[in-house]
Amino acid sequence: MQVKRLVVGPLEENTYIVYDKETKEALIIDPGDEPDRIEDLVRVEGLKVKYLVCTHAHFDHVGALPELKKSTSADILIHPDDLEIYEAARDMAAFWGYDIDPLPKPDIYVKEGDVIKAGNLSFKVIHTPGHSPGGICLYGQGVLFTGDTMFAGSVGRTDFHGGSLSKLKESFKRLISLPADTVVYPGHGPETTISNEKQNNFFIHELD
Ligand SMILES: [Zn+2]
Ligand SMILES: [Zn+2]
Repeated sequence: MQVKRLVVGPLEENTYIVYDKETKEALIIDPGDEPDRIEDLVRVEGLKVKYLVCTHAHFDHVGALPELKKSTSADILIHPDDLEIYEAARDMAAFWGYDIDPLPKPDIYVKEGDVIKAGNLSFKVIHTPGHSPGGICLYGQGVLFTGDTMFAGSVGRTDFHGGSLSKLKESFKRLISLPADTVVYPGHGPETTISNEKQNNFFIHELD
């Protein structure tokens, strides 16, 4: 497996291009902005993009979807509980002073336990509400993509529409019960491991 990270947009969101080296089939996780840079990488590596996965629908994670849907024809995956936020993402971006194109309709709704495959890679969907109602993490091949549920040393805010501190606590508990050596790729900031987060994440002390 190859994982490439591009930091995109004014909110420095992590877009991950994840692919099977053998078949070149790829997932793009959270294409938030700067579609040209993402497309360049897809072209240079010769990838066949199967899915555009939204860990959640905040505008900094979905802004490049219109362009990428056009250029890759890949299916857009999202948890249905974030659909309301998805549909409001453009207005929310405008509210914060950013401009994104109208988002294409999602193609596939995913839920807890679903498996997403690209080539020889497979990732399990873990539904992790808290930062947003339909937040998901992807777990497979010893790595975990956490979106804005878990960062190195911290967690996502719960004061946006649909956020819930109590749900975030439950979601966080599930994530730290994964194997300690799991590599964590968050939606913002550097990568980490479950073991690091058990020791260093401030949120550990907030759990009931
Ligand atoms: Zn977010
Ligand atoms: Zn974010």
